[in-house]
Amino acid sequence: MQIILVSRSKKVPRTFDLATRRLRWRLAAVAATAVLGCCGLGAALALAVASPRDRALSEIKALQQQVRRQDTQLADVRKDSQRELDALAIKLGQLQAQSTRLNALGERLTRIGKLDDGEFNFDEPPAVGGIEDISGSAYALPQTLSASIDQLAGQFDSQQAQLSALQSLLLDAKIESNLKPTGMPVQGYISSYFGGRPDPFSGHSARHTGLDIATSLGTPVHAVAEGMVTYAGVRSGYGNVVEIDHGNGYMTRYAHNSALLVHPGQRVHVGDAISKAGSTGRSTGPHVHFEVWYKGRVVNPLAYVRNHR
Ligand SMILES: [Zn+2]
Repeated sequence: MQIILVSRSKKVPRTFDLATRRLRWRLAAVAATAVLGCCGLGAALALAVASPRDRALSEIKALQQQVRRQDTQLADVRKDSQRELDALAIKLGQLQAQSTRLNALGERLTRIGKLDDGEFNFDEPPAVGGIEDISGSAYALPQTLSASIDQLAGQFDSQQAQLSALQSLLLDAKIESNLKPTGMPVQGYISSYFGGRPDPFSGHSARHTGLDIATSLGTPVHAVAEGMVTYAGVRSGYGNVVEIDHGNGYMTRYAHNSALLVHPGQRVHVGDAISKAGSTGRSTGPHVHFEVWYKGRVVNPLAYVRNHR
């Protein structure tokens, strides 16, 4: 067999004689190379076509596993957050109970302080329903909780404001009460009352301007209200006397002392010892002559000594 190759560039066609042994070998080699090449290409093609699907499949498998893992984790998280929400709900319930107690306390203080003038509204109904509402869907929980917490926070704010106002009012009332003469200035018994009585010296009727409290010599005499000592010395008839101005229209006087323990200008608190009881001045025996003055007029001290702070 002969193969004749004709080309334009060459005038004479080339001829190959397949019969020649050398050419046959060469052809065999070319054919073998081609077959091998085809096999390789086929394998490569097969790989190129098949591997993306396999890869995708294995990727899908991995993704499915991941999804399953995440599902488990999500369940755990949900369980945890449910637990936390339950704990929050319990805490919220406790706070609501505290708020209710605070309301009761505020009401009681308002009553005690006689401040019940409608300015305070501690009896406002406390927040309810927080615990009951959140027993339903897990997804409804946060909103209900959050709303309840917001409501409670607002309630606490209002309570705090009211309690501070109440506190300052009560403090003012306490200061006011500390300035008002209250109680006995000395331990003893009332031996003479305020008003008309026969003068113990002349026997004529005279107006007694104070209360006499019989006691033993040297018994400490106490300030019956907070104030400033305006006089500590001897006055005709009164003997050693202490006078205290309480700054709110009230003045108290303690007479016939055996000793004075304070000096003018000294600030005294309720219950401070200001003198020792005696019998100086016009006196028949150890006693304290106690006077209360209000806005420049002497008044009956009985109501004041019978009061309690
Ligand atoms: Zn007297």
